[in-house]
Amino acid sequence: MADKRDYYEVLGVDKNADDAALKKAYRVLAKKYHPDTNPGDKEAEAKFKEASEAYAVLSDPEKRRQYDQFGHAAFEGGGGPGAGGFSFDFGDMGDIFGDMFGDLFGTGRSRRPNNGPQRGANITTRVRIKFEEAVFGCEKEVDITLKEECTTCHGTGAKPGTDPITCTKCGGKGQVVYTQQSLFGMVRNVQTCPDCSGKGKIVKEKCPDCYGTGYKSVRKKIQVTIPAGIDNGQCVRIRGKGEPGTNGGERGDLLVEVAVSAHVTFKRQGFDLYSRAPMSFAQAAIGGDVKISTIDGDVLFNIKPGTQTETKIRLKGKGVPTLRNKNVRGDHFVTLYIQVPEHLTSEQKDLIVKLDDISGETLSTGKEKTKNEKTKKKGFMDKLKDSLN
Ligand SMILES: [Zn+2]
Ligand SMILES: [Zn+2]
Repeated sequence: MADKRDYYEVLGVDKNADDAALKKAYRVLAKKYHPDTNPGDKEAEAKFKEASEAYAVLSDPEKRRQYDQFGHAAFEGGGGPGAGGFSFDFGDMGDIFGDMFGDLFGTGRSRRPNNGPQRGANITTRVRIKFEEAVFGCEKEVDITLKEECTTCHGTGAKPGTDPITCTKCGGKGQVVYTQQSLFGMVRNVQTCPDCSGKGKIVKEKCPDCYGTGYKSVRKKIQVTIPAGIDNGQCVRIRGKGEPGTNGGERGDLLVEVAVSAHVTFKRQGFDLYSRAPMSFAQAAIGGDVKISTIDGDVLFNIKPGTQTETKIRLKGKGVPTLRNKNVRGDHFVTLYIQVPEHLTSEQKDLIVKLDDISGETLSTGKEKTKNEKTKKKGFMDKLKDSLN
């Protein structure tokens, strides 16, 4: 999809455009290119779709965030069933058209004749995974209720031996057409046939096995491949596992939304990880190897002598794999802090007091000689010594 235009460019707005600016830009384009005002104009139709898609994504804060981060790749299905893909669905835009055109074009929205093949609706389900599973990817099984074609009537809904008859109200077209005066002149309005609900056919004698619906609900276990790098709230799309289509239309998709559990050690932001790791006072002062937990396991990190508490270090490539390429990973930022021991043996106490004594002398003979600080420090240490003895 290299030729796909940038959504902001499509709408002619800048990257920081707010909702009002987006809506305004989209209204102008939608009015100009709407199929009702440009009957039969393929180019206008393409432009209308392009603008609608751009608006559908940018007007949804979550989708916009994904788009800003990954570009069009955020919504491309990841090649074949089971592979990870991130959901943008043109079919979901009914609501947006409804919102935008309710006042623009009157109530009757123009629709494709719906006695033709229609794609089934998508099914959305949720799966909870562990933090590590999101980072490295995993296989999960989800339980869903799927509609399967009734084997008795083969999906027609008619009792075996009978056939559905053509609807007389719409003559089998599935829709009724009327024209209406609107702001933009005469507008052709098309509505779903109320008698046959758009099917174009009416079942006189219902199939006893599916009560005329043509489908049976079946519980199914579906295997889901969750790609490495997925984040909380993102979806994996499994093609063809949604609701069945009508009149020979293909099935919708199954969208599996991922809920990622928090981790006790790691926090995630984009593809970077953040954590805190303790070092002892001795390690901080003298330098040496500090054990740090990473998502790949523990590593030893050599710190310089005199490392201060709250020092931040960066472990390059130890973050979360990116969705585009799992070999490209974010970074892991670690904040090192000095861990103060809560319990000391008397020997340890003595040594620390001694250390402080020596440090105090260094101070008193060094640069702070002239300050009153020295006396203050001594006073505190004397008190501490008294309490230890
Ligand atoms: Zn049936
Ligand atoms: Zn009808």
